Amino acid sequence: MDTATEIEGVLAGRRRSLARLLSAVEAGEEQTVREVVAALHPHTGRAHTIGVTGSPGVGKSTLTGQLVAEQRRRGRRVAVLAVDPSSPFSGGALLGDRVRMADQVMDDGVYIRSMASRGHLGGLSWATPQAVTVMDAAGFDVVVVETVGVGQAEVEIASLADSTVVALAPGMGDAVQAAKAGILEVADVFVVNKADREGAERTVRELQGMLDMTADPDGWTPPILRTVASRGEGVDAVADALDRHLTWASDGPHRQARRRTAARVQVREIVLAAVRRRMRGLGDGEALEAVLDDVVARRTDPYSAADSLLDRLGTETS
Ligand code: GDP
Repeated sequence: MDTATEIEGVLAGRRRSLARLLSAVEAGEEQTVREVVAALHPHTGRAHTIGVTGSPGVGKSTLTGQLVAEQRRRGRRVAVLAVDPSSPFSGGALLGDRVRMADQVMDDGVYIRSMASRGHLGGLSWATPQAVTVMDAAGFDVVVVETVGVGQAEVEIASLADSTVVALAPGMGDAVQAAKAGILEVADVFVVNKADREGAERTVRELQGMLDMTADPDGWTPPILRTVASRGEGVDAVADALDRHLTWASDGPHRQARRRTAARVQVREIVLAAVRRRMRGLGDGEALEAVLDDVVARRTDPYSAADSLLDRLGTETS
């Protein structure tokens, strides 16, 4: 792959280049990702990024598929990044399902991609911000990042979008569970999906009760919307709420503040990855092993040992 050619391709909106650069980002080869992000970052910031999170089974993929269709009806080009919590090898199955599910994939204005969240660095969705950069630079109006709201990191990734949807369903991943998982705080829009099922009204009431306790009178009040995603019902109201949230956030400091938080997380992750890499560069752990003798023999303490390694990390480049 010639990275420079594919970068041009993405900027020209070519799907094959988009697919290649997303694969490169997912593979995570440092020099390539660096080149891609440096070239594309100046061309980003235009897309409305939307995070969708919620427990497995609440209907996120169905909802996302319907949201894509609704955004298309509004004339927008949409990319979806489904962050798959399972192993990198099962990503294809999920994508296959989506492709079957979303009949709008034949349309040039839609691009759906799934990505494993656990890369070989052992970290989480570390490639997600970089993948969003590629999709944004490709000129999509809306970029949806769908994550399973099970781990803190998955929830965090969804919360870094301009607008975040938290999906719940009666009985599964209900309001109390969501509160425990810490996903309520990140919501700009709540969706109680499977509104055709018994218990939906109770979930709405529980949620309302929790929101009343935490309401910020000067802030955005997250609406609670009912959907039957499998029939596409209520999805237009979700799209409306997302539009309203974007307008609200863009009129004030909120969208910029959110983007600053996203930048902070991204830069911090890059720093931590560099530290890990340099640590390995220090004689593949030999330097660490050497100071451990001193720690164990009580000639030095763990903090001083760490300081001596950090000093060396600063001076020795990878
Ligand atoms: P995800 O794991 O959160 O992505 O959930 P899926 O989108 O895969 O949906 C899980 C199951 O719920 C599937 O069998 C869907 O067909 C079904 N489902 C999705 N939305 C609704 C709905 O609004 N009502 C009902 N009854 N079932 C739904």
